[in-house]
Amino acid sequence: MTEPPQRPSLPCPFEKVFPSQLQRDDDFYMWLAYNQAIDAWKQDEVPIGAVIELGGEIIAAAHNQRDSTRDPTAHAEILALTQAAKAVGDWRLNEATLYVTKEPCPMCSGASLMARLKRVVYAVSDPKMGCLGGATDLNALPGSNHRLELTRGVLEKPCHELIRAYFQLKRQED
Ligand SMILES: [Zn+2]
Repeated sequence: MTEPPQRPSLPCPFEKVFPSQLQRDDDFYMWLAYNQAIDAWKQDEVPIGAVIELGGEIIAAAHNQRDSTRDPTAHAEILALTQAAKAVGDWRLNEATLYVTKEPCPMCSGASLMARLKRVVYAVSDPKMGCLGGATDLNALPGSNHRLELTRGVLEKPCHELIRAYFQLKRQED
């Protein structure tokens, strides 16, 4: 196996945001997902982050690690779902909500359904690969016996800006 060439990682010009613990609304949890996305950037990964909430507590927090692990399944949502299932001791996550900074891809939308999540909240729609309304909607499979509650566009602006800036700097680097 050959090692990929070492690249210096791009400095991240964005700061983490620490919202008040007192108001645990969708913005609160999405800021935590945003902070995970910043951690991804600092490891030279596409900045996408996710957290999973259950009963007002965070039971999982992860960011994209596809390049560092060289694993095509190492998306933020998959890593978070695995953590959450371990925390709960069950693959069924019926009462949990996934917050993610970008609309889930086919794999992660599918995994969210298979985990029977109660709810998915995402920031930025993805018209190319998003499978919860952006490109297509796996949540609308006619034969499926599970439906996710969906909320779109929470903190869309800062989450979009983070991803946009990352790819812009990447292109300048190449
Ligand atoms: Zn994915």
